[in-house]
Amino acid sequence: MKERHTPVCTICRSRHANRGIQVLAHVICEPCEKQIIGLQCDDPVYLFYLCQLKKLWEPILP
Ligand SMILES: [Zn+2]
Repeated sequence: MKERHTPVCTICRSRHANRGIQVLAHVICEPCEKQIIGLQCDDPVYLFYLCQLKKLWEPILP
């Protein structure tokens, strides 16, 4: 069996992202995924996640 290296979550930089979702070349861990889904627009954390997510799309944006 080939050993897989543990992906690092793009949002929180933790190494438990192996059960998370993959977006393009990035991985978002399960806790972060749940956080994003449950975020409210007036939540201060929302802006943080928004900035982190922007990094995901920047390489493919024109
Ligand atoms: Zn994470």
